[in-house]
Amino acid sequence: MTRTGRIGLLGGTFDPFHHGHLAAALAADAALGLDAVHLIPARIPPHRTSQPSASPEHRFAMVALGIAETPGVLADDRELHGDGPSYTSHTLATYAAQGWQASQMFFITGADAFAEIATWHEYPAILTRAHFVVVSRPGRDAASLRDQLPALASRMRVAEAAAPPSPAETTQPAVWLVHAKTPSVSATAIRLAAADNRAITGMTPPLVEQHIVRHGLYGRALVSPSPAAGPLKAASELHAQEHG
Ligand code: ATP
Ligand code: MG
Repeated sequence: MTRTGRIGLLGGTFDPFHHGHLAAALAADAALGLDAVHLIPARIPPHRTSQPSASPEHRFAMVALGIAETPGVLADDRELHGDGPSYTSHTLATYAAQGWQASQMFFITGADAFAEIATWHEYPAILTRAHFVVVSRPGRDAASLRDQLPALASRMRVAEAAAPPSPAETTQPAVWLVHAKTPSVSATAIRLAAADNRAITGMTPPLVEQHIVRHGLYGRALVSPSPAAGPLKAASELHAQEHG
């Protein structure tokens, strides 16, 4: 199948999904003129010493809830199956098998994640399998990567929403630096706040916050539902009337 257009791919642990992820996806979309962005939760992230706190299913659910009102952004479940670590090079191969050319795929990372690119599976070949879009993260400007990764500086170019690159400029995979101001939030900060029963409002979309609280994720104390009223009571009364 021949594909047209440009697809953005944002992989991550999303433990939990938060406003920084959404902002990075939207900044990459604007600067590169993407047609869609797929958010791809990792089942087993390869670059971590400890494994995620929430299950892959909960992390996928939080991504889907967090983007529910954002058109053009999708939750993709392809890394949730299979046994080993979720390597980006394997994920890119699955998109290639679906007809996406390297020149059409834009793998999005924050500047902190891309700084570690030399440790990624199949580096440096992976840089030829897709474009990379590196979005600044508070405290880590994308431009600083030119100095940090001098071997890759010749591949780096700046992308801006005012003038996304033309098709002729994207025939060869490159590393696109995007200077966007994303919110200063991390999943680690949310997990710590939830474990302390501190508010996480404003750090993550409201439906994600609700999911964390409802399911007691990250050690959040569960609020016991009042036995007196509420939709569950109404539903069980209805059930009782209907069935007996
Ligand atoms: P943790 O604190 O557990 O590492 P995180 O907030 O860094 O979580 P990840 O799931 O590790 O979230 O990140 C997925 C991708 O999103 C990474 O490429 C990361 O750099 C990027 N990202 C996360 N938060 C931001 C942000 N505020 N601005 C820009 N990029 C971000
Ligand atoms: Mg991280």
